[in-house]
Amino acid sequence: MTPKDPDVLVIGGGNAALCAALTAREAGASVLMLEAAPREWRGGNSQHTRNLRCMHDAPQDVLTEAYPEEEYWQDLKKVTGGITDEKLARLAIRDSSRCRDWMRRHGVHFQPSLSGTLHLSRTNAFFMGGGKALVNAYYRSAEQLGIAIRYQAPVDRLELQDGRFVAARIGDERITARSCVVASGGFESNIPWMRDAWGEVDGEWPVDNFLIRGTRFNMGVLLKYLTENGADPIGDPTQSHCVAIDARAPLYDGGICTRVDSVSLGIMVNKQAVRFYDEGEDFWPKRYAIWGRLVAKQAGQIAYSVIDAKAIGRFMPPVFPPLQAQSLPELARQLGLDAPTLVRTVDEFNAACRAGTFDHAVLDDCRTEGLTPPKTHWARPIDTAPFFAYPLRPGITFTYLGVKVDEHAAVHFSGKPSANLFAAGEIMAGNVLGKGYTAGVGMTIGTAFGRIAGAQAAAAAMQGAQHAAA
Ligand SMILES: Cc1cc2nc3c(=O)[nH]c(=O)nc-3n(C[C@H](O)[C@H](O)[C@H](O)COP(=O)(O)OP(=O)(O)OC[C@H]3O[C@@H](n4cnc5c(N)ncnc54)[C@H](O)[C@@H]3O)c2cc1C
Repeated sequence: MTPKDPDVLVIGGGNAALCAALTAREAGASVLMLEAAPREWRGGNSQHTRNLRCMHDAPQDVLTEAYPEEEYWQDLKKVTGGITDEKLARLAIRDSSRCRDWMRRHGVHFQPSLSGTLHLSRTNAFFMGGGKALVNAYYRSAEQLGIAIRYQAPVDRLELQDGRFVAARIGDERITARSCVVASGGFESNIPWMRDAWGEVDGEWPVDNFLIRGTRFNMGVLLKYLTENGADPIGDPTQSHCVAIDARAPLYDGGICTRVDSVSLGIMVNKQAVRFYDEGEDFWPKRYAIWGRLVAKQAGQIAYSVIDAKAIGRFMPPVFPPLQAQSLPELARQLGLDAPTLVRTVDEFNAACRAGTFDHAVLDDCRTEGLTPPKTHWARPIDTAPFFAYPLRPGITFTYLGVKVDEHAAVHFSGKPSANLFAAGEIMAGNVLGKGYTAGVGMTIGTAFGRIAGAQAAAAAMQGAQHAAA
């Protein structure tokens, strides 16, 4: 195989790219993968993942009870508010019921859901060793199968002819192939583009205070190139999965350990030391993804989760320790908040808490009365020293803008599917996920469409070869 002229070129180095490359190779195609990152940073956002949402009709190894197709579909329809393509969504859902044997064959291991991750043991299969172990296993398998892999190979443009892929370019270098799978993620790492998408609000550029939870290599270069060169776009550039994460996290690659899960156990205050949203509206797994946007709307895009000693041990501890003080004024001083205001906010909250039976595992009856905004569940006075706080900022997980594809993962140009250009993963996830999110569905989409794109690209390459020989 000549790495420069393979049957199938796969652009990207995360889950979707790896699934496409492995499937194309299994179908007999020669495959070259181009990963923008150096080897030690390979794997895109996929290296930060923990689990895959799986349809199943009966208990299976690490999955309890059943999670049938219809329930999965209804969950997806609900979170997206119907902004989804049912045909493509069901395709991904069905694939999630059969992909795990294939994943195991390529070295991925599963483990039961982690404690502290509420309600996921039925729906989500966790990767043993997390996403890092998953991508390492796939890379090992790819090497064993003879897939050529190049690192530090950021493709900057494509050569297209009437919707057909001709070649990829890395600067002056030209790489031809019979077919191509683009699996280069979203554009969340591209801060200038994110700035444009979010715009200026009240004289501030909110994005300047955002952190990127994953890779720095998802610059959206090919997403932009494709949509500017005839590929049909799908999704809204302002939509993204956005979580409140520890403000001390690095700008990129903070990953899962910087997520802070203490919000529903205390109160959230902004820079003015006042509350701004119901911290106990619903179970945390159903609400964690709204807090990124809520914090983004606060002045300076910062907020603080304030808890007391009673909350410790009830949530997964994040990597950074909380700030800690014996009194609320001292905590306010450490946070740089106005102490009398924080004390008044806590006093008003404590006075509004109605006695109930605290149970964090159910929507309990501990709520506030006569307080705006209310705290509808798990409201207990913050009165037991020591007091703790986590500073939080919006953390972008991924963006939703993508290219339109069909059930063969073929990229559409003016409504027509390309014969040899396919897309998988975050770059096309907007077809299924117009907005919202349900845990584990990113890997479902990437695995399903990665495998479809790989098979289709191999078939298109073989067909191309037959035409050339005829
Ligand atoms: C902290 C965190 C936790 C998450 N947890 C989960 C989870 O538990 N379950 C779940 O389902 N989803 C999770 N997600 C979402 C999940 O990561 C994505 O849905 C999924 O990884 C997307 O896979 P992908 O292959 O499309 O993109 P990525 O894995 O991001 O891969 C994109 C690849 O393309 C490469 N690339 C980009 N541009 C170019 C270019 N021009 N040329 C060459 N290569 C390029 C990048 O280097 C990267 O390797 C999480 C995301 C984050 C950030």
